[in-house]
Amino acid sequence: MINVLKVDHIGIAVKNMAEAKKFYTEVLGLTVQGEEVVEQQKVKVCFIPCGDSEVELLESTTPDGPIGKFIEKNGEGIQHMALRVENIREALADLKDKGVRLIDESPRYGAGGASIAFIHPKATGGILLELSERK
Ligand code: ZN
Repeated sequence: MINVLKVDHIGIAVKNMAEAKKFYTEVLGLTVQGEEVVEQQKVKVCFIPCGDSEVELLESTTPDGPIGKFIEKNGEGIQHMALRVENIREALADLKDKGVRLIDESPRYGAGGASIAFIHPKATGGILLELSERK
């Protein structure tokens, strides 16, 4: 069974994280937490808590990474939405049973030590959807 708990975060692809951060901190008065490079994804990320959810800024560490390619194709902007699930393995098994098109059949490492997996936009109404389990 999949048990969706909340919108965990919205992932925003930016060209320059330091620049983008300024809006969220200086203009909106939010605080940045946990900056990290995720090598497998060729991306630098930071999280900005916003009430019960977070904004995730994503900057590519190389032009040929997923975020670099996304920006080349679409420009900067919302790249994915993430839903927090209680148990990601159970969630993926459930979705697989229901015939949902997955990008990741098994969970992988996400920033901040989360377990994450992506669902194909063809299955979700056109957005890249991330499932995230955090302890
Ligand atoms: Zn994310």
